[in-house]
Amino acid sequence: MDPKLDRKAIVEFIRRMPKAELHLHMEGAVQPRTWLKLADRNGIRLPADTPEELNEVFRFRDFDHFIELYTLCCTCLVNVDDFRLATYELLEDLAAQNVRYAEIFLSPTLHLARGVKWETIMAGVSAARREGERDFGIQTAFIPDISRELGPEMGLTVARHVAKSAEYGVIGLGIGGPEVGFPPDDYWEAFDLIGEAGMHRVAHAGETLGPDSIWGALKALNATRIGHGVRCLEDEALVAHLRENQIALEVCPTSNVCTGVSKDWPSHPLKQLLEAGLLVTLNSDDPGMFTTTLTNEFLRAQETFDLSLDEITDLALNALRASFLSTAGKREWIAKFEAEFEKLRGELVPV
Ligand SMILES: [Zn+2]
Repeated sequence: MDPKLDRKAIVEFIRRMPKAELHLHMEGAVQPRTWLKLADRNGIRLPADTPEELNEVFRFRDFDHFIELYTLCCTCLVNVDDFRLATYELLEDLAAQNVRYAEIFLSPTLHLARGVKWETIMAGVSAARREGERDFGIQTAFIPDISRELGPEMGLTVARHVAKSAEYGVIGLGIGGPEVGFPPDDYWEAFDLIGEAGMHRVAHAGETLGPDSIWGALKALNATRIGHGVRCLEDEALVAHLRENQIALEVCPTSNVCTGVSKDWPSHPLKQLLEAGLLVTLNSDDPGMFTTTLTNEFLRAQETFDLSLDEITDLALNALRASFLSTAGKREWIAKFEAEFEKLRGELVPV
């Protein structure tokens, strides 16, 4: 750590610094208090009556258990205002952490599968997007995600909707859900369609499965960013490919610990990924379910791996570098963030 800095100053710096986030699921970011509110107004029974109890329920045995509870909570989202409220409250939470820009995943497959219309989802989330910008100055874009467990046919349905949804702030297509048993190659058609529509392609890969899953996301789906990707370290050629092409990894340490991908924070490969020269971004994934925040991810990362202030700010800027903003937009945001970092250093770092 920078010898000039004490822990208190660095904590203050992290709390106040501007941030961007690229790997955040709308449904996974909803706080327990909001889930209970939505369950109540739709007459849905969740296995808890208070936010504290729901936090206890969110102690996941493994990745499948997490998907099971995620899917159950999603049933609380029924009408336009449910989607609006859930998204609005999460934007409020992000703004409170000084997150200024976010690319947010949606899980429409799970909603479509239970009969919710695409337009219902989009009307709600896009209304919240406008309100978030108006009320908190936060800019957002959406990346609907295919839940792989629902199969390639449903994936194609989502892709067709996505290709026509730019007006709602949709910029691309993602794929998530359990990697085991659902290889990326089966979803090539959906991702081809998105490429033809000129939109972005991202994929969760290398989280519960190893390098083959990441290679599949790159080759079959033409993904330009990888969700998690932490297991790339098992394949040197893959690490070299990711480094040379500066394909970003959306790394989410607390999520990996909660789903059992990593044993704990100290054994998480974040530091190795950075040392390998990869374009690493830090993210909260499902903060409502993993009881974390983006600020907390930075605080834990700094503390666990003894990151310097320069390493912290570089990690924060990586989110802008790896974002789907235009080249001019990235330049503008980066300059703005750098100026704020400088100002904060002046206030917090004794000379
Ligand atoms: Zn995710």
